[in-house]
Amino acid sequence: MKLKGNYYNGNFHISNQGDEHFKKHCPADLNQILWEFQEDCSQIDSIIDSAIAGFKTWKQTPLKNRMECIKRYALAIEKRKEEIARALSLEVGKPLWESLTEASGVIAKVNVTLEESLKRIENTHYQNIMPQINGQVNFKPIGPSIVIGPFNFPCHLPNGQILSLLLAGNSIIFKPSEKTVYSAQLLIECFHEAQFPAGVINFFCGGAAGTQRFTRHPDIKGIFFTGSKPVGLKILESTYRDLNKLVALELGGKNSSIVHSDASQVHAVSELIKASFLTSGQRCTSSGNILVHRSLFDSFSKLFKETIDRIIVDHPITHKVIPFMGPLIDEDAVKKFQSYIQRLEKSGAEQFIAPREIKTSFEGHYCSPVVHTLQNYDAKKHEIIGEERFAPHTTLIAYDDIDEALSIANSSEFGLAAAIFTQDEKIFQHAANTLDVGIFNRNRSTVGASSKLPFGGVKNSGNYRPAAVSMIDACVYPQATLETADASSHIHDLPGLRE
Ligand code: NAD
Repeated sequence: MKLKGNYYNGNFHISNQGDEHFKKHCPADLNQILWEFQEDCSQIDSIIDSAIAGFKTWKQTPLKNRMECIKRYALAIEKRKEEIARALSLEVGKPLWESLTEASGVIAKVNVTLEESLKRIENTHYQNIMPQINGQVNFKPIGPSIVIGPFNFPCHLPNGQILSLLLAGNSIIFKPSEKTVYSAQLLIECFHEAQFPAGVINFFCGGAAGTQRFTRHPDIKGIFFTGSKPVGLKILESTYRDLNKLVALELGGKNSSIVHSDASQVHAVSELIKASFLTSGQRCTSSGNILVHRSLFDSFSKLFKETIDRIIVDHPITHKVIPFMGPLIDEDAVKKFQSYIQRLEKSGAEQFIAPREIKTSFEGHYCSPVVHTLQNYDAKKHEIIGEERFAPHTTLIAYDDIDEALSIANSSEFGLAAAIFTQDEKIFQHAANTLDVGIFNRNRSTVGASSKLPFGGVKNSGNYRPAAVSMIDACVYPQATLETADASSHIHDLPGLRE
C-alpha cells in the first residue's frame, strides 16, 4: 500500500521528514507490513491555507456544480469499490463481504445526501411574514471544517460527514485514524479524480498532536469528530472558549438489547449474533449487554451458545471458508479485552463462553466470541457492564420485570442504541418512552442503521448533532432576512420625535 502523503491545493505532498513515525501491521497477518509514514506537521499551515482558499471558491460555486462534483466522486468510488474493500479488510481486519458493504455504503450515501439531506437546508421564503414584509431563511456554510475519523468504519463514517459538509458549501480537511490511513487515502484519490476545485478537499495523516493543531486553529470553524468519549471530551475542553467553532461529536456506546418473554427466540438469536459480534464487536452500536427475561433465559442462552460455537473467525481475505469475523484492530485492543474479562469476572459475572484459541494460517490479533452471564444484577457491584468494550463480547443478564430491564439499560453512562424483541406494542412504547438512547429498534439488532434516519446518541454518546441524514443540519447556519418591498416609510411616522 503506497501512501502519498497529505493532500492540499489539489495535490498530494509526500514528506520523508516528520514529527512522528507510524507503521501499520495487518491485524490479520502480523508478518505483513502494510505501510509506514511520517506525520509532517510542517505542512499544517499550508493545509489550513488551502482549506481557507477552497472555502472561498466553493461557497460561491453554484449548488448544481457542487452536486456534479459529488456525483463524479460516486462514479470514481464505484470503479474502485473492490480495491477499497480489500484495503478496508487488510487495515481493519473485517471480512471482505463486510468491507464490500462498507464500500457500497459510501456510494449509496451520495444519493441519500442529495435526495434526503439537501432538502433539509433548502432556502425558505415567507410571503407577508409581517404586513408588507417578506421573510427568508438562507442556510449558509460554516467554513473550513475538519472531519476526524475512527478506525472501525474508516470510509463510511467520515464519508457521510464529508458529503454533507461539501454539499452545504464547506471545504474539508479529512483526518483519518492513524490505523486506517490507506483506505482513507483511496477516498481522497476519488475526490481528486472528481475534479473538485483546489483547496476544497484536504487530507492530513497524523496522530493526536498534529490533529490538535487543526482543532485549536481559529480558522477551522467546524470539527466533526467520530471516536471515543475521552478524545471527544479533550476536543471540547480545548475548544470551548472559541465560540466560532461548531463541534459535532459522535462518541461511544454500551448498548443493551432486551429479549422479552414473548420474543421469537430464533429471530432474536440471529439478530443478536450480529449485534454482538459483527466487526468483532468493534461497532459503536454493538450490543454488549443482552437482557433476557428469566422465563426464557436458559433456552435463549442454549440457542445463543449453539450459534456462537459455529462462528468462523479467520483472515478476512485469505481463508478456506468465509468467516463471520476477523481479528481485533491491534494488540492494545486485545489486552483491554482480556483485562475487561478479568474485571467482569471479579465483579461476579460467570463465564458462559470462554475465550478459545483461533486456528488460522496467520499470526494476528484474533479473538473468539466470549459471553458472560449475570443471574442477579446489582447496580453497584456490576457497574462495569456499563463500560464500552470494543471486542466480541456480551453479557447475558436475567431480569424479571420490564422496568428492571429498562433501568439496567439506562444505567450506562452512554445513550447511543438499544433494541427490544417483543410482539407487545405496549411494552415497546413503554420502552421507547423510558430508554435514553438516540437509536431504538424493535425486533431488530442494534447494528445496521439506515442513512435515511438520524444516527446519534445522548448522554456520553454525543452532543446532540446526530449524523446520517441529519448531519447536514450542523453543516450550515441559518441567515434570517426581512425584506420590505414598499420603501415609502417616512420620518413623520416615527413616534416620540420633537416637532
Ligand atoms: P479514538 O477516539 O481513539 O480515535 C478517533 C480519532 O481521534 C482518530 O482519528 C485519532 O487519531 C483522533 N485523535 C486522537 N486523539 C486526538 C486528540 N487529542 N484530538 C483530536 N483527535 C484525536 O477512537 P477509535 O478507537 O478510532 O474508534 C473507536 C471509538 O469510536 C469507540 O468509542 C466507538 O464507539 C466510537 N465510534 C462512534 C461512532 C458513532 O457514530 N457514535 C461510530 C464509530 C465509532
